Amino acid sequence: MRSWTSPDVPQLPALQASLQLFDTASDALVPVETPDDVGSLYVCGITPYDATHLGHANTYVHFDLLVRYWLASGVDVRYVQNVTDIDDPLLDRATATEVDWRDLAEDQTELFRQDMAALDVIAPGDFLGAVETIPQVVEDVERLVELGVAYRVPVPEAEAAQAGQSPAGDVYFDIAAAESSSPWQLGSIGNYTRPEMEELFPERGGDPERAGKRDALDPLLWRARRAGEPYWDGASLGEGRPGWHIECSVIARRHLPAPFTVQGGGSDLRFPHHEFSAAHATAADGLPLATCYLHAGMVGLDGSKMSKSRGNLVLVSALRESGADPQVIRTVLLEHHYREDWSFTDGMLVSAAARLARWNEALASAPQGPADQYQTDQPAAASAPNELQYALHSALSLNLNAPAALDQLDMWARGHLAQGVSQAEVRRTVQALLGIRLGAA
Ligand code: ZN
Repeated sequence: MRSWTSPDVPQLPALQASLQLFDTASDALVPVETPDDVGSLYVCGITPYDATHLGHANTYVHFDLLVRYWLASGVDVRYVQNVTDIDDPLLDRATATEVDWRDLAEDQTELFRQDMAALDVIAPGDFLGAVETIPQVVEDVERLVELGVAYRVPVPEAEAAQAGQSPAGDVYFDIAAAESSSPWQLGSIGNYTRPEMEELFPERGGDPERAGKRDALDPLLWRARRAGEPYWDGASLGEGRPGWHIECSVIARRHLPAPFTVQGGGSDLRFPHHEFSAAHATAADGLPLATCYLHAGMVGLDGSKMSKSRGNLVLVSALRESGADPQVIRTVLLEHHYREDWSFTDGMLVSAAARLARWNEALASAPQGPADQYQTDQPAAASAPNELQYALHSALSLNLNAPAALDQLDMWARGHLAQGVSQAEVRRTVQALLGIRLGAA
């Protein structure tokens, strides 16, 4: 599907990548290699309803730092993101609000694009919906059935699409079979214990009670056609629609190398989503899905968890409509480390705006470089990295430490760092690495 328009990213003289990231699977900081100067990234996208709340924005803005870090290190970026434009929560919301699920998905996806563009998030090179990927999902689920790591569970008679219909059944992933035939083991990605997973599974869309499953945690791969639900041709699987985890596995396997560099998403995706997306891919081809699994913290509101059920979601579009500058929203997000769970308050917008204003004041008194005198908008790129670039790059190198990078900007603004760097170079450096546009009226 159509992506959004990326912001301009000034090219900086490349600094050597020396990245360490906290990998959930190994529960440690790991050096992240980018062989042949290519970094590949998959960040799980939205299910398009209630988009884009601050938790979504927090995830995408922080992974945007990884893209920017690689670009500023001379690393080519292959970035893929999906949109789960068919799934139970979307259908439930469409039914509850009496809108067509396709209209809901399209409207919310469009709002998401606008929010991402407003927040200066670099667009993924491939932005794919679940619906447009269904033929490939069918291929992969058929393969998992052939490999003996997926099995059918009969659809209860009462749920059959038509009276007397005998559908082929839902298809589930067989955890035990996958463990014995592939390097993946349950818990090896999300790093949870079995009791923790049993607690999380029903809270996050799983169906441990479903009769006929071999393991309560076996996840759904293909849901056979039901009365009143949209469905697609599933070839040998029968008509139906895809499960959630297989969608990302299929998209990543077709658009990124195996394994790709970083799988990202919110920490609520550790299990079951990332666990099983990786399991499906490894069961299909024997290869790990990714080399590193990164998880962004959750954002609450005024001290409590932000959730649809509590009705306390803070939407980026609503903040923008109320007059909040997207650059200020971006700064608020970057004031927290990506792994941190934190709680939003309106006061954060006020303090971030003041911080931005201090940086802009400092910019006005930074020296004018020779290039600035001729063409302030597009000054010639510097041939050597400046001191501020080293400082920001270094902060991001250690697990994308955005708060430390902003502290370096404060140091510069107070006159303790990089005082010889020209206005134009400061603007280019901060815009490229942090996506913050200083000096923009
Ligand atoms: Zn995903």
